[in-house]
Amino acid sequence: MVMKTPLITEIQRFSLQDGPGIRSTIFIKGCPLHCPWCHNPETQDAQPEFYYYPDKCTRCGKCVEVCQSGATSLSIGPNKQPELNIDRKKCVRCMQCVEACLYGARTVVGKSFSIAEIVQEVLSDRLFYGHSGGGVTISGGEPLMYPEFTLNLARALKEEGLDVAIETSCFQKWARIAPLVQTTDLFIVDIKSFDPQQHKKVIGKPLEPILDNIQHLIAIGANVRIHFPIIPDFNDLSSYFEQCLSFIDRFQHQLNGVDILRYHVYGEKKYDLLGRGDTYTYKNVKPCISNELLMFAKALKRFNHVNITFDGIVGIKPNK
Ligand code: SF4
Ligand code: SF4
Repeated sequence: MVMKTPLITEIQRFSLQDGPGIRSTIFIKGCPLHCPWCHNPETQDAQPEFYYYPDKCTRCGKCVEVCQSGATSLSIGPNKQPELNIDRKKCVRCMQCVEACLYGARTVVGKSFSIAEIVQEVLSDRLFYGHSGGGVTISGGEPLMYPEFTLNLARALKEEGLDVAIETSCFQKWARIAPLVQTTDLFIVDIKSFDPQQHKKVIGKPLEPILDNIQHLIAIGANVRIHFPIIPDFNDLSSYFEQCLSFIDRFQHQLNGVDILRYHVYGEKKYDLLGRGDTYTYKNVKPCISNELLMFAKALKRFNHVNITFDGIVGIKPNK
């Protein structure tokens, strides 16, 4: 069977938030979940896309000339100036317009890399990983949408003696996750909700396999770190905080640690650049600071033997 190979949106160097130490983070394009607050919207769709920067666009019309699908057109706006219109529904993602644009007003999101190319790229920072207890994190999007690719990449990184973390929703069949345990130093997993109905309705996929897989990982002794994202109008409720506390209580001696991460707005601009600004329901939503959240933060103090960070304020300790 031919291995499904994902596009990569970015190989981010000197990453400090995706596991211990200084890391390189590989962002895989494609995710089966549809979190409406996602701050990496460019990694949701597995197909190539382009960013359009109106400020750089001179309305020269080169992109209109090469677009065969009618997705790009020029018109005269109400102020009698030329306007560029992009209809993403008609776009067949040929990327001809990106090549034609001489002003950098369009850039491709999602490029092909072989495993060897990725390894070569991340090896340039090997020295920093060694000194800081860092390594490489395979993130996304969802790396487990491409289990064979992720496994082969993790193996190749391990062969170079690098520390490997995988940032995942754990939404995948257990049989596809199990082979990764041998080659993965740390699994970083989000639990966004403990309510199956809410999870299915808002995120679009069932919660049960995610929680089952996390518990499987913990049961077989994999090194697991949990992210609890705090999202306004979704889970910033005492019921969710209580369930987070019981989860930590139950697995406090097995977990590598816990990160409480409040929703932030850093991804907002990207929705506009991808032409999805209208669909982003979290526009202008502010990070939450409620009494319930403050009480939750206070309650976490009883787990002072567990490595817990809040908004990334306390550094993550090296793996066990
Ligand atoms: S080719 Fe580039 S600068 Fe010219 S109209 Fe298209 S996006 Fe704008
Ligand atoms: S990527 Fe889309 S907008 Fe650009 S030339 Fe191809 S079809 Fe037209």
